Amino acid sequence: MSDRLSIPEYAMALARVASLRSEDPYRKVGAAALDHDNRVIGTAYNGLAPGFDAPLGFWDNREKRQKFMLHAEINLCSLFRRGEAKLVATTTMPCTACMQTLCAYGIKEIYYQDIYHASDAPEIAATYGITLEQIKA
Ligand SMILES: [Zn+2]
Repeated sequence: MSDRLSIPEYAMALARVASLRSEDPYRKVGAAALDHDNRVIGTAYNGLAPGFDAPLGFWDNREKRQKFMLHAEINLCSLFRRGEAKLVATTTMPCTACMQTLCAYGIKEIYYQDIYHASDAPEIAATYGITLEQIKA
């Protein structure tokens, strides 16, 4: 037995740290991407567009602000080009739109911690032959 983290666990640990930076009071999501040599490309979290300062009361209404939130996976994909990343770990299962984006970027392995029932990610992964597995906290 070894205490050494597996590569997916390593990526998930990075994703968890990234989630701590999210300013969304309702759902903090972090994500991490590794390249084909298991080197870290980067980490990201859900939040508002860079440089935008939320006005007073902005966080009070989840429905109203939801459309402005950039998901962690989208922010993550802004860090690399298609084909550069092999593996993505994210603290919540990608939503349908993020799963489609990860497909477009050629991600082959996706690991998530918390399940997101409203997502079509499992069906999309099965159809395109992408690994989608849960790593529990
Ligand atoms: Zn999403």
